[in-house]
Amino acid sequence: MKILVGGIYHETHSFSNVPTDIGSFRRVLLLEGEEVVEKLQGTVSEMAGFVEGAKRFGFDLIPTIWAWGVSTGPVKAATFDYLLDSVRRTLEQEGQVDGVLFALHGACVGEQDPDGDGYILSKLRSYVGEDTPIAVTLDFHANTSDRMVRIADVIVGYDTYPHVDQVERGLEAAELIVRTIKREIKPVIALEKPPMLIVPYKQATAAYPMNELLILAQRCEREALSVTVSGGFPYSDVPETGPGALVITDNQPELARRLAREISSRMWELREEFLPRLPSVKEAVTSSIESEHWPVILADVGDNIGAGTPGDGTFILQELIDQQAEGAVVTIADPMAVAQAIEVGVGKCVNLNIGGKCDRFHGEALDVECCIKLISDGVFTNRGHMRDGLVEKMGRTVVVEAPGIKIVLTEIKMPPWNLEQLRSVGITPENEKIIVVKSAVAFRAAYEPIAKSIIEVNSPGLSTVDLKQFDYEYIKRPIFPLDQF
Ligand SMILES: [Zn+2]
Repeated sequence: MKILVGGIYHETHSFSNVPTDIGSFRRVLLLEGEEVVEKLQGTVSEMAGFVEGAKRFGFDLIPTIWAWGVSTGPVKAATFDYLLDSVRRTLEQEGQVDGVLFALHGACVGEQDPDGDGYILSKLRSYVGEDTPIAVTLDFHANTSDRMVRIADVIVGYDTYPHVDQVERGLEAAELIVRTIKREIKPVIALEKPPMLIVPYKQATAAYPMNELLILAQRCEREALSVTVSGGFPYSDVPETGPGALVITDNQPELARRLAREISSRMWELREEFLPRLPSVKEAVTSSIESEHWPVILADVGDNIGAGTPGDGTFILQELIDQQAEGAVVTIADPMAVAQAIEVGVGKCVNLNIGGKCDRFHGEALDVECCIKLISDGVFTNRGHMRDGLVEKMGRTVVVEAPGIKIVLTEIKMPPWNLEQLRSVGITPENEKIIVVKSAVAFRAAYEPIAKSIIEVNSPGLSTVDLKQFDYEYIKRPIFPLDQF
């Protein structure tokens, strides 16, 4: 049995001014051919789950491509062409395959075709024909479309946010596709979506109210082959934006529909509970300074790099300076400041212009008097549940120190998914008092075990919890909480 495997994963922020091209993937993770398996087996990734599935269920992997990017703006048509051509060429060399296992995100927006994942699936379908089963995995923030459901035979989404179950979901998809190929099952999918949007910070799967929906999903899964709850990605401006409940049964469409409706209705009933209530930047910084137990983690919810923001927001840094915080660590993506600091050199002090350069949403660039402490290549390997074993590249990285505050300046924006990010530049997170993470929820897998408290901050930015800030054009209306019901 031969199964074509690969992945194209992009969470698209429709309001980001940074276009997504092939370089966006190259800078983060772009693998082709055999290296897809070589580099990803044993890591926390869907591919590692596919590899495990091949061993357990007995099939040969035909690797194609693995393109993984951090959230930015809509994906260029030429980028899809490049990635999909590579898949097509592999298939042509291989001849017929028995199935396709592909990792998608579910909130990928194409410049040409807004339903990016639906487009990828339509291409995969055209390559393998109608009779070859296709199974895909999706991120928890998928804005799943009806078109995806029509094309795919199996769809399995993450059950966790922070995302730590990529291997398990990859394995689940592998099992379902093998059973489909062997004609042991005939999967049918139902998707139900309540007319609502949920901001990422309220989607944490361990916290109320999302935890309640996942418990319900587990109960429904006793009657089904697979059940996926997704939180959706509210910063994609497409008709399918929003959370959903997806149920796969063994040729029982009515049952699938009933279970999906049950979860979707409960989600709708809980809509008010999903509304954000957060302290202002000023209140949050004051609380962090007054805290008697450290470290306190300040989550910069408005500049959540994983959701497509530039990572150069300065609102919290400015407030820490104004309130004369002591023992704070802030990470800012700013290639210009990095270059300037490297030119000055370790041990020297300088007035650096920091952050606030990419757009008008994330605060002013700040002039900060600071001393250069360390220069690094910014490469580190993740340890622990979150992306274990995967190598990250944040570009040339400099640690500078201003009175009371260490500032980590990176060339490439890097979400705070793993403690190795700070450790690799000589900072021991456990020993710091206040750590600002540019993240809404994903940081929790790494930082919750060491945090004495976590304060989510209502900071302005492209991942603001105030969705009324965006001029949506394409989402379905009416939608909660933007419209009255
Ligand atoms: Zn996600």
